Amino acid sequence: MSSNLRIRRVCHHCGKEFEARTLQTRYCSHDCNRKHYKLVKREEKLKKFLSGTVAGHVPLEDTNKSKPDLEKFEEIQKRDYLSIAESAIYLGVSKRTIERSIASGNLKVVRLGHRVIVPRESINKMLGL
Ligand SMILES: [Zn+2]
Repeated sequence: MSSNLRIRRVCHHCGKEFEARTLQTRYCSHDCNRKHYKLVKREEKLKKFLSGTVAGHVPLEDTNKSKPDLEKFEEIQKRDYLSIAESAIYLGVSKRTIERSIASGNLKVVRLGHRVIVPRESINKMLGL
């Protein structure tokens, strides 16, 4: 009795009406079944990829923030003449602080045109080293 069961169903993939032999059948053909399965898998992969990049993007940006300064600091330590920006990184203060020290005469600098060169010796003297 039940083996002769015929159910009219609509294919999950192509939308075509077909006669299903079991209630579980969702596709008109094996081809539609395979194609739809691939589509679902592709969507899952895409979703995973998108959520992965979004989630992984934030901490990546955070760790990169302090890195350039640290690399610069190591480079600065090897040099005898610094710019105002480099002096600020070296001392861990703002550029404004360096500029104020220059203006008040605490930090002796060399002016080359519009450029200001800060000898490391001047920084050491200012610090009393
Ligand atoms: Zn189909």
